[in-house]
Order: sequence, then structure tokens, then C-alpha cells
Amino acid sequence: MTPKTFRIKNFGCQMNVYDGERMSDLLGAEGMTAAAEDEEPDLVVLNTCHIREKAADKAYSDVGRLLREDGSKPLIALAGCVAQAEGAEAKRRSAMIDIVVGPQAYHRLPEMIVEAARGGRPVDTDMPAISKFDALPARRRASPSAFLTVQEGCDKFCTYCVVPYTRGAEVSRPWADIVTEARSLVDGGAREIVLLGQNVNAWNDGNRGLAELIRALAEIHGIERIRYTTSHPADMSDSLIAAHGEVAKLMPYLHLPVQSGSNRILKAMNRSHRTDTYLRLLEKVRAARPDIALSGDFIVGFPGESEADFEATLSIVDEVGYAAAYSFKYSPRPGTPAATMEDQIPREIMEERLARLHERINTHQLAFNAEKVGVDTQILIERKGRRDGQMIGRSPWLQSVHVESDARPGDFLDVTLVSAGANSMAGALRQKVAA
Ligand code: SAM
Ligand code: SF4
Repeated sequence: MTPKTFRIKNFGCQMNVYDGERMSDLLGAEGMTAAAEDEEPDLVVLNTCHIREKAADKAYSDVGRLLREDGSKPLIALAGCVAQAEGAEAKRRSAMIDIVVGPQAYHRLPEMIVEAARGGRPVDTDMPAISKFDALPARRRASPSAFLTVQEGCDKFCTYCVVPYTRGAEVSRPWADIVTEARSLVDGGAREIVLLGQNVNAWNDGNRGLAELIRALAEIHGIERIRYTTSHPADMSDSLIAAHGEVAKLMPYLHLPVQSGSNRILKAMNRSHRTDTYLRLLEKVRAARPDIALSGDFIVGFPGESEADFEATLSIVDEVGYAAAYSFKYSPRPGTPAATMEDQIPREIMEERLARLHERINTHQLAFNAEKVGVDTQILIERKGRRDGQMIGRSPWLQSVHVESDARPGDFLDVTLVSAGANSMAGALRQKVAA
């Protein structure tokens, strides 16, 4: 039987959230509807992530949990990077999986569903030259802050990372397609566009780079804010840095992962920057936009990381004073060079280092937020808060701001930031700005 209702479960990064939204548009265009929370869907898509530990094992146990008490099950599609990495093997490991579809092939989902409904078990992990984006329907609804993937894949081959294998080579979407999608997101209710890519600042069309794209998007009526993530230090061009000082709609926030504060480890990771080049880059960014909120990613416990290497990571965190940062325990990914390096770090040491790093990052997050107390700013309302009458919005620096207000998602509010925690702030209303 062809399914009528579906549920998409997203794991991992913002790019997966974006892919999940596009799959939802695609299934909607086929006449299917998203299942209500208390409803058993006819089709479940598990949009998996392979970046860290035991991703495949977790995906199979998620599949197992879809078995209902009466022994029946929905149609199950394994999508995302675990699907890409496992391919046809997924069907051997779990008889419950009906469809295996990689992140570059999900535009084929409708025909794969028809095949599966007839009893087939299709697998597609191709990375076709023809862009899947051409085959996807136009965006119809959008949240106030909407993701727009402009670049996919990666050619950098950091020794720990699985992305070049699961997402393929670096590809930039065409300029015109991006502008068209941005316009339809605005028509669908978006006020902020977040440009996404594994290395989003590598986006180019041969002549123009991300800075030019951002300047063009800033001209579109209805787009009030622009952000982009994740950037690589090697692709942080002077024109992009200049845009931070010149394009008012480009928000003062930059996510620029360094991964480690030790040059020895950066070299072993095959990162192209060293701590001095990274810090010089940030100096230039701060010169262009002094109030910029800086954020980054860190891996602790990369093979061979000594206590001194780890302390160098703590030092760079102090030196930069990140407004936010994400830190992860190193996870050996099958097929990556680091997975077979000697001197893998024991779990207890990784956990102890991660806790110390978290604490240090929290201190800086809190300090950044505390400095903003008393500042008048504008927030973009995204959703309701937990308490009655409470709404949650984002400041230009991406802080989550709680405010008592009857505003709706998509409204801009003028607020004074009145108190700070490490992960959120409270705002007091000044006056409502027309939506
Ligand atoms: N392209 C971005 C860059 O190079 O900075 C990062 C994209 S990656 C999908 C997101 C983050 O996952 C990385 O910045 C890294 O901190 C983390 N990550 C990737 N592979 C990892 C691994 N094997 N173990 C732990 N963390 C990992
Ligand atoms: Fe992975 Fe980023 Fe390195 Fe590419 S640049 S291999 S996505 S960590």
C-alpha cells in the first residue's frame, strides 16, 4: 500500500535539518501529509548522521524501535550519511529497512517509495552529477529563520572526518537557484536566511564568492538578516571579512572551527591552519566587525594528544574568548586515516578533558553574555517559550533571548537585554516593531 502519512526524524547537523525539510516538501508535493504526533505514520524516514560514535549501531536500534506491538511496522527509509556509508549492507543488517537513500539521492524518494510499497527494497547512494536540487519542489513554508544549503561536500580530508566520504566532493549550487530559493523562503515567511554548507565559505561560481552572494541576498526585499555556517579558516577571504563590516544585514556572528590549539595536532589532523594564522584571521574579522560573536568547534582526545596539547587548546579558548563553542570527544570513523593512528586516547582521559573544556567554554560564554547586559537590541522571535506569555527570539549575536510578549514568530522586537546565563539571556520589551 502506498503510504499516505510520514514522519521524518532528523539527527546531526543543520544540513540534515535542511535535507529533512526538503524531503518533507517533496513528500508533501506527492500528496502525503506529515503524521500528527500521536499518530502512527505509514512511512518513517530516519535522516541519520555519521559524524560521531556508533552512528550506524544507533541507527539500527532506532529502526528496531519502529516495530509495533502487533508485529506490524511502517515503511522505513534509512536516509542521510549512515545510509550513504552502509549502502546495501543496511538491508542485510536489518530486514525491517525498506529503502536506503543517501544524502545526494533523496530527490528519488517518491519513486523509491512506490517500489518499496510493491515489495521492492531499493537502494540509492549515487552522487549524481545532476544536482538533486533541480528535482526538488519549490519551498512553500519557512520558519522565521530558514536554512538554505548553498554548498555541499568537502575536499579537505581532515584525517578524523567522514564527510568527504559520505557527502562527496565539494560542490556549489548555482547563484540563480540560491536567489530563487531565498525569495521563496521569504514568501513562505522567513525573515532570516542561514546559508549552509560543510564549508560554506568555499562557495563560488567560478567568478564570485560567498561575499558577493551575501551582498546580493541582502538586496532582496523581506530578507532582514543573513548568517552562514560552517566556515573553514582556509576559505575566509578578505572580501568575506570586509562584508562583515559593510553589509548591515549580515549578522555579527562567525562560526570558525579551529579544532585544536596545538600545532602538532593540527598538522596530524591535516588542518591547513596553525594557531597563529587562525588568530591573525580572527584579528582581521574583529577589525572589520568589532562586536562579532566568535564561535568554534573543538575535538579533544585526537590520537597522540598529550596533556600539553590539550592545555594549548584551553589557551586558545582563553585567547579568543568565544561567545559559543562546541566540543566533541574524538570518535574514530571507519575508513578515515586517524582511526588507525597509534596512541588512541583512553575514554576516561577524553571525558576528563572534555569536562574541563566545557567548563572553560561556559565561562567565556557567560562573560560574553554578561557584557551584553544593558544593551538595547532587536530580536527575531522564533517560537513560544515554556512559560505562558513567554517568547524566545535571537539577538544579532545568536543569543537565545527570553521575553514576556504577545509577539508572534517572525516579529522583530526592540528589547533591552536585562540578564545573562551561559546559554540564554532575558530581554525586556521596549516597543514592538512592525512585522
Ligand atoms: N567543515 C567544518 C570544519 O572543518 O570546520 C566542520 C564540519 S563537521 C561536519 C562538524 C564538526 O564535527 C567538526 O568541526 C568537528 O569538530 C566534529 N567532528 C568531525 N569529525 C569528528 C570525529 N571523528 N570525532 C569527533 N568530532 C568530529
Ligand atoms: Fe570534515 Fe570540515 Fe575537515 Fe571537511 S574541512 S574534512 S567537513 S572537518
